[in-house]
Amino acid sequence: MNLILLFKKIWPFVRPYKWHVVVTLILTLIGSLIAQVNAIVLDWTVDQVNNLVNAGKDMHGFLARATFDWSSATHILMIITAILLGKELLSVIITYSQNYFGERMRVRVSRDLAQAAVDRILTYRMAYFNRNGNEAGRLQSRIDQGVSSLSTTVQNTFIDLLPLFTSAFLALILMFMANVYVGLTALFIVPVYIWITTHQAHKLRGWRQQMRSYREAKSHGIVSIIESINVIKSFNRESIESKKQLDIQTALTDNQIRTRKVMLYYDGWKKFVQQIGTVLIIILTAYLVLIDYPGMTIGKIMYHVMLFANVTAPITQLQRIFDTLNDALIYAEGYFSVVEAEQEVEPSGNYRPEKVVGRFDIEHVDFTYPNGTQALWDINMHIEPNKITAFVGLSGAGKSTIVNLLDKFYEPQTGRILLDGHDLKEYDTQYLRDNIGLVLQKNHIFSGTIEENIRYGKPGATDEEVIDAAKKAFLYDQVSKLPNGFKSQATDLSGGQQQRVAIARMFLKNPPIIFLDEPTASLDAVATEQIKASIDAIKKDRTVIIISHSISQIIDSDLVYALQNGRVEQSGDPDELYKKGGVYKDIVDASARSLNIEKLASTLQGG
Ligand code: ADP
Repeated sequence: MNLILLFKKIWPFVRPYKWHVVVTLILTLIGSLIAQVNAIVLDWTVDQVNNLVNAGKDMHGFLARATFDWSSATHILMIITAILLGKELLSVIITYSQNYFGERMRVRVSRDLAQAAVDRILTYRMAYFNRNGNEAGRLQSRIDQGVSSLSTTVQNTFIDLLPLFTSAFLALILMFMANVYVGLTALFIVPVYIWITTHQAHKLRGWRQQMRSYREAKSHGIVSIIESINVIKSFNRESIESKKQLDIQTALTDNQIRTRKVMLYYDGWKKFVQQIGTVLIIILTAYLVLIDYPGMTIGKIMYHVMLFANVTAPITQLQRIFDTLNDALIYAEGYFSVVEAEQEVEPSGNYRPEKVVGRFDIEHVDFTYPNGTQALWDINMHIEPNKITAFVGLSGAGKSTIVNLLDKFYEPQTGRILLDGHDLKEYDTQYLRDNIGLVLQKNHIFSGTIEENIRYGKPGATDEEVIDAAKKAFLYDQVSKLPNGFKSQATDLSGGQQQRVAIARMFLKNPPIIFLDEPTASLDAVATEQIKASIDAIKKDRTVIIISHSISQIIDSDLVYALQNGRVEQSGDPDELYKKGGVYKDIVDASARSLNIEKLASTLQGG
């Protein structure tokens, strides 16, 4: 990233506010002219007062009250007062407008940058979020830091930098107009100053870059502590987590102190150079006055010193602007890497059939996750509508991965997946997902009311539809008993109740294809039975895929695929598969044993 590229990338965000920039520029020009007024007035005043004093002196060189021209003196003072007051008033108005426009632009650019990042990441495919280095905390820090640093850059460049430099430039011109030598002296100091500043920035760049990664690590660390707080507490690992954070913090502070040290060192040198400049200007002007150089009066000493201050003031600000630009270069890389990951945009075809029947054909599919874990080998499956297909296998066998592929969250590396005879790749991704209902083992409930959470399945749904869906998910009775009913916070519900919210959401969506990944894992036995009944009821005219460890759900399915280590080991009717023996039988037997079926049977008989 370099400066030109940076501004090229920022420009689209500034363009909507180009009128802000124009207005600020005009104000800037007026402001810069006004900034020189003090120096000019002082120069004029000193010389006028000097003349008056000289004219009023008697033959012995003393100021004589009688001959002193009081009315001219009063006149001069009144003019100065009027000019200076008027100038201050104008200056207040201009500074106010400049700051107001500047802030307004910064805030709006900041909003646009943040929204652009949100809109972009929403289009990215699942693999993006799974990649190392793209953890939630890191992405959040990359976006936040980028937005704040880039919007500050916009303000600094278009609102702060321009006025400062216009003012410096005007002051320099006035110095040259007053006297070429004085102008040259000022002009000589400026490059020295810039040279030191560049040196300083160069020295700090590496450390600033490190700072970004420390900040990301810190933010990621805090997010992961909060996310796994119950694990940390249950294992009493608070001190270990605290130590991990402390290490990051220490590295970060060391870096900060080192950076500060270097900055202060260079700041000292810069101050020194600036003072040398002022001294040189004083000596030079005094000399010119003494040798009676044409146009040089005592007033010019003050005039030149003030103009020189106007030249160096912006240059002292240069460091701040250099820092902001340097930060912007660093953070912009992070920000734009998030916003411009074109290759991560979820692929989509444009096939949108009138109706989805729901027949899936998976042919020779291999799949490897972005981190390199191969999860599936040569998968072949045929999944029929009007049937419940169960995926059975131990944890890690690849069941959820297949569902991920069918929902187009990921694309297989080899082989293909057909839905109703068309490659999944050809389907419009949004259309496809409109036709799929997904209930996961742990469904994310959004903060909001129960009603809002159910309505997520169909944003325009009527109250009756929401209630009907809640009834089908056996949630209605429980929710009605809550003090705020459907207006209660969904996040306050128990795990099992949240699961039913997710199921109700799916009923409301009413899609032709349904994937259930351990939908009843966190439900009690009664709820499981009820949900099973409603799933059976909706299977008609639909494709239902269920991943379950619940033996009752497995043996009730129409077709079973038994997976092991990412391969389909067996498939067919559950009863026939069981008779054949093999992976499926092993799993069913183990489930039966875990249920303690014999004891259960004798208990039930006894009752
Ligand atoms: P199952 O659903 O049968 O329990 P999964 O499909 O979740 O199994 O996992 C299959 C394999 O893929 C496992 O080895 C797992 O570690 C791996 N895996 C699952 N999800 C991811 C992911 N997001 N990134 C990398 N590897 C993954």
